[in-house]
Amino acid sequence: MQKFLKATLPLLAIALLFFACKSGTKTETAKPVLNAADFDSTIHPGADFYKYVNGGWMKNNPIPGDESRWGSFSEVDKMRYEILHKILDEASADTKNEKGSNRQKVGDFYFTGMDSVNLNKQGIEPLKEELVMIDGIKDIKGMMSVIAHEMKNGTGPLYSIYAGQDDMNSSKIVVNVSQGGIGMPEKDYYFRTDPKSVELRAQYVALIASILMERGVDASTAEAKAVKIMAFETSLAGASMSQVEMRDPYATYHKMTVADLQKFNPSVDWKSHMAEMGITVDTIICGQPAFFKLVETQMKKTPLDVWKDYLAWNVIISNARFLSDSLALKSFNFYGKALNGTKQMQPRWKRVLNNIDGNMGEALGEEYVKTAFTPEAKKRMNEMIDNMIATFRERIQKNDWMNDSTKTKAITKLDKITRKIGYPDKWRDYSSLTIDRSSYCTNVLRSNEWGWNYMINKIGKPVDRTEWGMSPQTVNAYYNPANNEIVFPAGILQPPFFDATADDAINYGGIGAVICHEITHGFDDQGSQYDGEGNLKKWWSTNDMDNFKGKAAKLGKQFSLYIVLDSMHINPDLTMGENIADLGGAMIAYAAFQKTKEGQDTTKMEGYTPHQRFFISWTRVWRNNIRPDALISRLRTDYHSPGQIRGIAPITNMNDFFTAFNIKAGDAMYRDDSLRVAIW
Ligand SMILES: [Zn+2]
Repeated sequence: MQKFLKATLPLLAIALLFFACKSGTKTETAKPVLNAADFDSTIHPGADFYKYVNGGWMKNNPIPGDESRWGSFSEVDKMRYEILHKILDEASADTKNEKGSNRQKVGDFYFTGMDSVNLNKQGIEPLKEELVMIDGIKDIKGMMSVIAHEMKNGTGPLYSIYAGQDDMNSSKIVVNVSQGGIGMPEKDYYFRTDPKSVELRAQYVALIASILMERGVDASTAEAKAVKIMAFETSLAGASMSQVEMRDPYATYHKMTVADLQKFNPSVDWKSHMAEMGITVDTIICGQPAFFKLVETQMKKTPLDVWKDYLAWNVIISNARFLSDSLALKSFNFYGKALNGTKQMQPRWKRVLNNIDGNMGEALGEEYVKTAFTPEAKKRMNEMIDNMIATFRERIQKNDWMNDSTKTKAITKLDKITRKIGYPDKWRDYSSLTIDRSSYCTNVLRSNEWGWNYMINKIGKPVDRTEWGMSPQTVNAYYNPANNEIVFPAGILQPPFFDATADDAINYGGIGAVICHEITHGFDDQGSQYDGEGNLKKWWSTNDMDNFKGKAAKLGKQFSLYIVLDSMHINPDLTMGENIADLGGAMIAYAAFQKTKEGQDTTKMEGYTPHQRFFISWTRVWRNNIRPDALISRLRTDYHSPGQIRGIAPITNMNDFFTAFNIKAGDAMYRDDSLRVAIW
């Protein structure tokens, strides 16, 4: 389980942006960073601070047709596209690449993805072997062999299985077996009764039918099969936990023997099934025992033909993006257009680039950081992290709701936080991965299988805590509770988050708050349940935990009152961890900023005091335009609150924000003292 700064979705940029990381500029000579045209000066900060800071930018930056939203993260992503595009273009044009080198692999991967003539000529052909295997299934045993094969190649039907650190013992790798097998974003999509949700389900069934028709099935037969597949997926969804339920790490932790798992699902020989995937363990963590009881029920009552259709649908839709234009478009029309309102597909080069980035991210990252990361950036980040941790420590010591014993333990955990900045010390070795120019989809399947083996090979070995969960070019950051670590890829160390030439107010309100956001994840409603060694273990006194929960509930109430779209509110239980992290992010970064020279000054720059600049920087980071459909999807599935709320909600708990902009009782942004929350 990792906590990201934002939900990961493919991002896009259109224009290219030159970027160079300069260093050593003093605050007094800092370059201008604020753009007057980004503001909307017709709005008083107290009426709508988000619009005041970002209104001009929002007007001038409409969402590109092939995006579902457009914001700071998308703008910053331009450099990733620019650098990776160049690497891939050059590598694929080079006929003298050394065979087996990363350059040959990413070059050939890109070549096959860009070869639209061949992709359209091959159609569904690259999946022939997979489909023949499915057609040949005679019984449950044979079916589980095919499912084992598909788990390895990334199709992953029916349920989920992965190897990762044990929540209760972070120095051990365990196999986790959990719910899965559905094609809509989460379980409630199968059950909501509003007209829009009913319509989405009709579109989904139509997608299943049209995918089955790719195999030569006639329309009415395909439709009948699609209805049965939908009923099957609905039963899986019905036995699944909701995203909110899954936020409780104890609720998804059921350690058991493989024999115990088999008691829930006796139709499957789980030991042999796992052996076929290369897994030989006696103990596993089962996320949802009830789900596997349902699987058993389905194995007893669902005809084998329905299972086979379900598996065929799965293998085709999972790979549709890597096949012909007509298949890719079918996938886009549901997952891009219907779910998120995106108008058109990304250009081919961006889709292929993002796919290779997902499969061989560190091979590209090794080249990326040569251009886009400097030792100076790392030094500045290290200094800021030191300041943030020191400030966090002081605030724990000073807080009035924890006893001394819990405070000591919290500080012990804080001091054990490790950090990763920029890129990994050692790069992932792709030498055993074969990529050639035969077929794009085949390259994807091979990459997935390589990734599977990479993961499975960790079982029984010491945990490699130097490993990264994100490629260096990713515009994001994360906290990983199992390692008690904060991670900042090179990709996010760019303006408006980080600017080595800007003043402290801008950087503390930007990357400083990001740093504190990630540190706070170690102390949010989930992270607080893990100790400094990354183990799920109670270290709080009961009374202190009650105090913490009381504060969290008060924060949840604040967020639940924001109406985001029509009558849709934020789900405070889904977003609790991120909301706590945002509150900590803003408050701790601000406290750290107050200790800097600029933080103690009142000299205006670009028309704003240092303290105003801090809050402007915070709100600027969250600027974005988003399509209504995408906003609805995110309100239902994203653990983060929408950008327009992240940009204001946390700072409305800070009196210094009100003072900085002369915001008073009666202003829309004002929050009465009795309603404010401070946790960390
Ligand atoms: Zn986060």
